[in-house]
Amino acid sequence: MSDDTASDNDLASLFEKNVRWAEGMEKRSPGFFTSLLTQQTPQYLWIGCADSRVPANELVGLLPGDVFVHRNVANVVAHSDLNALSVIQFAVDALKVRHVMVVGHSKCGGVTAALNNTRVGVVDNWLRHVQDVRNLHLDFLMSLPEERRVDALVELNVLEQARNVCLSTVVEDAWVRGQTVSVHGWVYGLHNGLLKDLSFTVNSTDDVAPAYQRALLALKLRHLPVV
Ligand SMILES: [Zn+2]
Repeated sequence: MSDDTASDNDLASLFEKNVRWAEGMEKRSPGFFTSLLTQQTPQYLWIGCADSRVPANELVGLLPGDVFVHRNVANVVAHSDLNALSVIQFAVDALKVRHVMVVGHSKCGGVTAALNNTRVGVVDNWLRHVQDVRNLHLDFLMSLPEERRVDALVELNVLEQARNVCLSTVVEDAWVRGQTVSVHGWVYGLHNGLLKDLSFTVNSTDDVAPAYQRALLALKLRHLPVV
């Protein structure tokens, strides 16, 4: 059997599973797919890591049509990333989502590589954004036991990227218009499948700095070793 045949068989099983999934959805909820044809009205924009272990819809029990999703390595929202900004603009301006959540996850490979200066490839350049976060909080990170640093940087990165969402012109303008949209920072635990709220919840430009400071203080208190 050639490698090509093996991979064709692997892919054939995906199509079979897809047929079973679609049939199951239609059986549980007749007309489910046709009802999604005309419009999508998700309440949530999820900005998460590309990691295969963090499937956005699944881990919060949401169906197709419920959540608009943007994922990249280490859930980065760079100020000039036209891809992320386009997604945020469509979600906020056109879909009128009520919540934008930036969701990191424990043991993130991208964050680990950024923390340790590991050379992986082209992605190293992308992870410079996470290294900027690391460098901003370097004294704190170095004060932690080594085994806590990755997950602390995961949380710091979520705070910084969620703040970047707040500082985007798209979200600033929405708040100026009086549109109701909240920005949140969450972390998903790979070890237990649970989400943790980092208590960064922002509803206006005036909230950004105080919410960031409160969440940062809470984060530091949580991670500092008990003396
Ligand atoms: Zn990750």
